[in-house]
Amino acid sequence: MDSRISEIYGLSDRPEHIDIQRLLDLIHPDDLKRSQALELSLVPDGPPLSEEFRIYRENDAALRHVRHLARLVRNEDGEDIVVGINWDVTDEARLRQDLLTAKQLAEARNFELDRAKSDIEYAAMHDYLTSLPNRRYLEDELTRRISIATGTDTHVALVQIDIDDFKAINSSYGHEAGDMVLRHVARVLLGLSKHNDFVGRMGGDEFAMLWSQERGSSSLQQVAKRILLELAKPITVNDAHFRISACIGLSSLEVGAKASSATELLNESDLAMKAAKSKGRGQILHYTPEIRATASLDRTPSDRLMRAVDENAFVPFTSPNTMPVR
Ligand code: GH3
Ligand code: MG
Repeated sequence: MDSRISEIYGLSDRPEHIDIQRLLDLIHPDDLKRSQALELSLVPDGPPLSEEFRIYRENDAALRHVRHLARLVRNEDGEDIVVGINWDVTDEARLRQDLLTAKQLAEARNFELDRAKSDIEYAAMHDYLTSLPNRRYLEDELTRRISIATGTDTHVALVQIDIDDFKAINSSYGHEAGDMVLRHVARVLLGLSKHNDFVGRMGGDEFAMLWSQERGSSSLQQVAKRILLELAKPITVNDAHFRISACIGLSSLEVGAKASSATELLNESDLAMKAAKSKGRGQILHYTPEIRATASLDRTPSDRLMRAVDENAFVPFTSPNTMPVR
């Protein structure tokens, strides 16, 4: 016992008047057992042991952290005496606690950031209404499948589905009912998809399915027919009963075909779908080069007329004489 011990424990008496029990009484009740266990595990002339515990200082009841290092020594008379040193390590303990708190905060923030990042990534690749992969995700997946399939005997095929007269559903039953129909279509397509198929919403009332070979013998045409049959079943939305139909455009990268891009395949199924629409409701068409030729023929006259208007190339004549106006 020395004056420094009195100072650490907040005692006003001279060190020689302090008995050990008075110090033990100041130890925090939760730490008392631990500090007693240390004393019990000391062996004569064994190694020094160390422990940390909290005390309530006697003079001001302030909570302090004390480190205790003790050794059991056997003296010449065969008596065991504990030789020990105490330090006030309150500043160090607080710093340690602050560091721990800062580490936990940083970990919590990292967790939040990771979650926000994956939420953003999910939102960027999925459609909010149906939770299906969106056009961007579908294009990425198509690109991936084309690169795997090119040069192998694997088919890549695209089924593009556009609901017929969907605007009429919105205007007759409301936008909310329209949303419910879109969710219904998503469920139907997911229900029909097999293990390796990939269903996405391209936007509006347009969906697409990447067809996988694992369907065994069923052909692309059969898959498309099956989709139309399922969609044709009556549905009830907000107490209204009706049926929907859709047109389907198909395009595929044939076995052994030279590499084609996802954009090309999407463009082909889109042209096929538009050509199917021009035939009526509930039609299925597979892309052929003639479809593109017809589509560009259909566009050419209107494009030339628009350009002529822009270039002021029309020359009006009055009737009955044929004198130019300008
Ligand atoms: P078509 O038979 O030629 O396919 O014509 P359509 O009436 O189905 O119309 P079209 O496919 O050209 O356009 C789809 C419409 O879907 C346009 C828009 O009013 C509507 N739409 C787009 N997104 C949503 C949506 O998220 N919810 C609802 N309820 N309607 C949508
Ligand atoms: Mg439509």
